[in-house]
Amino acid sequence: MTEPTSIAMAQGSSCWGCFQSLIDIHLNLATVLPLIDIKYWQCVADFKLKDLEGYPDKSITVGLYEGMARTEEDIHLLKLMREKCKILISFGSCSCFGGIPGLANFSTLEECLEVKFRNNKTVKDGEVPTENLPTIAPVVVPNSTIVDFEIFLPGCPPTSKLILTALTALLEGKPIELPPHTVCHYCDREKKETPIEKILRPYEGIADPDRCLLEQGYICVGSATWGLCEGQCVNHGATCRGCFGPPPPITNDQGAAAISMFGSYAPLESEVLAETVLDPLGCFWRFTYPTSHLGAIRIKREEAKTK
Ligand code: SF4
Ligand code: SF4
Ligand code: SF4
Repeated sequence: MTEPTSIAMAQGSSCWGCFQSLIDIHLNLATVLPLIDIKYWQCVADFKLKDLEGYPDKSITVGLYEGMARTEEDIHLLKLMREKCKILISFGSCSCFGGIPGLANFSTLEECLEVKFRNNKTVKDGEVPTENLPTIAPVVVPNSTIVDFEIFLPGCPPTSKLILTALTALLEGKPIELPPHTVCHYCDREKKETPIEKILRPYEGIADPDRCLLEQGYICVGSATWGLCEGQCVNHGATCRGCFGPPPPITNDQGAAAISMFGSYAPLESEVLAETVLDPLGCFWRFTYPTSHLGAIRIKREEAKTK
């Protein structure tokens, strides 16, 4: 019998949804688990950080890093994973692009701490803690600017099917081959190439179930999004919010591509657009702000303040 593949799974600042999606491969775990030797998974197995620190460099075959790295502890863990693992996977959209936690870059660190600790409706007389709070970086930077990754597996979260496909290929020593298509490729809705007459909020009107949501006025960023989910939202009545990030090469600016597509369908006056698209950053860069051109300017500006 061949030796199991050693694997380490680490969590930075994240919601644990990506690892939940891994566990959701359900009965397939019975096939996968005997093939892997878990060396570190702080939330599931009783490993301590010192265990990971103690492994020889590059002694673990595969590592998955979930979440972004904003605290000094996250950054230490991310660099450690890079040192110990031969193949490091950027696991989920937080890790690949900054994800939802990357939206914090719309605000300063001080504003984030204010909302979290002082001016929070569930907190009375709140204060920012002075003990046991790790050092927090001024902004969320893409993990790929801290370490190199061999593989990017985006999604918020990556689907269980995608995770199983990727893990199976890795365990068989084969390359992970992922189709490059956008969400539109998998969408069953008909496109008639007609312009948007009015922009609608998701709760407005009743959408035609057979027609492209974007053409009906709902902001759908499927054309700028990697379709690794196979269009699961748009084929079940909801717009695509872009959670898998841009299609390959994933360094493209997803929000800029989405705005370009949106602009070609919505020949409306700029005042009308400004009044109806109330949250353009959240609509077009919901998962990828730190890796976008605008986000890079913001990161530089905030980092410059600390120099
Ligand atoms: S990518 Fe989504 S599911 Fe995964 S950790 Fe981040 S927020 Fe959670
Ligand atoms: S824009 Fe959205 S609704 Fe329209 S075809 Fe693409 S994925 Fe489907
Ligand atoms: S349709 Fe869009 S928002 Fe929904 S899972 Fe796929 S990429 Fe994410």
